[in-house]
Amino acid sequence: MLPLAPRPGAAVKTLETLQEQERSGAGLSPVETDHAGALKAALARARTYDRMPASGKDKGPDDFTAWAASMPDFASPEAGHDLDARVAEAVRAARLDRPGQWSKYELPPEAWRLADTCGRIEAAIARLARRRASRDFTALVLAGDEEGWTLPEPPAVGTLGTGRVSATTRRAPSGEPVVLLDNGIFAFARMLAQLGVTAVHEHRETGRPGRATMELVSDLVAAQVVMGTCDGTYARLIPPPLAAAARVVQDSVVTFVVAHEYAHLLNGDLDAHPPAGPPGDGLREREFAADGKALRITLSAAETPGADDAPVLGPVLFLAGLDLLDRARAAYEDHADRSAGDPCPDPRERMTEMLATVRGSQLGAAYADSAATASRAYDLVLLAWDTVRPAVREAAGELARHTRAGTGPSYLPEGAHRVATATLWRHVEPRLG
Ligand SMILES: [Zn+2]
Repeated sequence: MLPLAPRPGAAVKTLETLQEQERSGAGLSPVETDHAGALKAALARARTYDRMPASGKDKGPDDFTAWAASMPDFASPEAGHDLDARVAEAVRAARLDRPGQWSKYELPPEAWRLADTCGRIEAAIARLARRRASRDFTALVLAGDEEGWTLPEPPAVGTLGTGRVSATTRRAPSGEPVVLLDNGIFAFARMLAQLGVTAVHEHRETGRPGRATMELVSDLVAAQVVMGTCDGTYARLIPPPLAAAARVVQDSVVTFVVAHEYAHLLNGDLDAHPPAGPPGDGLREREFAADGKALRITLSAAETPGADDAPVLGPVLFLAGLDLLDRARAAYEDHADRSAGDPCPDPRERMTEMLATVRGSQLGAAYADSAATASRAYDLVLLAWDTVRPAVREAAGELARHTRAGTGPSYLPEGAHRVATATLWRHVEPRLG
C-alpha cells in the first residue's frame, strides 16, 4: 500500500454528513470500523475459499476477499510470517487509523480499496508532475505534451448509493473537493471486466460473442438497470486464466473512473458534471480532456507500459458499459436510446477521442494493439446487447414487479439480485442461436 497525503478535513466532514444522512435514512446503525481486523478476516475467507472443492464453488468470493487475496503485500506466502505488522503498516500508510482522514462511515472493504486506488493514482500524478526533473522516461512518454499535473489538494473520496456508475465530485462548503462513487462500483467493474475479457476470448475462439458473454450482459443489466446497483452481487465463476485477467481489468476500470475525477481537479474544472443542475459550457471538450488525462494516469498507475491490454481495456470497457447501460435503461423504460440535444458526449465519441490520444502520440508504439483489442471489446459488448435487448423489453413488466417486491421488509440485496438476474436470463436464453 502506498502512503497517502492528508485529506482536507472539511471535505471528509462533508462526506460524513452525506453518508450519515444515507445511513439514517435507510435505518442503519452507526458503523464500527476495524480496518485491520476486516482485512485479516478477508484473507482468512480467501484461504477457506481456496481449499473448497471446485464442486462447492457455485459463485466467486466476495469482492473484498478477491481483492485481499490479490494483494502481494498481504497474501504472498512470505507475508504470512509478519502479517500483523504488514497490515498495521498499511493502515498507517493509508491513514485509515487517523480521525478526520477517512469518513468514519466508510466500511473497511471500500476504505481499503479506495485507499489502494487513490494511493496509486496520486503516486502516478506525482511521477508525471516531476517527470522532467527526475528524467523519468516512462513518465515523459506517458505525459506526452499534456500539461497540468499539479494537484491543488487531495480530495476526500468515498462511497454513497448514487446509483450512477460514473463518479461525481462536489465541494465542501469551504470549497474542498469530495469525490463520490456508487457503493456498487467495485462489483460493477468486476462484472464489466469479466464481460470484456470473456467477449474478447469467445470472439477469438468462435468469431462471435457466445453464451458466457450474453450471461454477463444480462447480469449487468439486471443488476444496474433493474435493481439500480451492482452492490450485493456475487461474481460469476469464469475459467481461471480469464478470471486472473479480469481482476487486473477490474482494477483498471475503477482506476479510470476515479482518475477521471482527479483529471477534472488537475484541469481546474471541478464542476464539469455537478451532481445536480445543468452542466456548464464546454462540457464536451472538458470531458474529452478529462478522459485523455485519466487514461494517462491509468497507464502510469498500472506501471507496466505496454505489458498487457488491461490499462487500455479497462477505460474503454467503462465507456462501453456506459453505452450499454444507456441503451438498456432506454429499453427497460421503453424510450428512445438517447435524447437529442443531450449536452454530454456519447460514450462512443468519448472512446474515439480517448483512443486518438493513444494513437496520435508516442503512446501508440506501446499501446496500438491494446487500443485495437479494446475497441473490438467495445463493439462485442454492444453486439451481445443486440441479442439481450428484445428480452429486456419482453421481461420489463415482470422485472418491474420484482424490484417493487424487493423493497419490502424482507429485503435482501443478494436475494433480490438473484431473482432479477434469473428472470432476465429466462427471457434471454431462448434467443441464443
Ligand atoms: Zn467528467
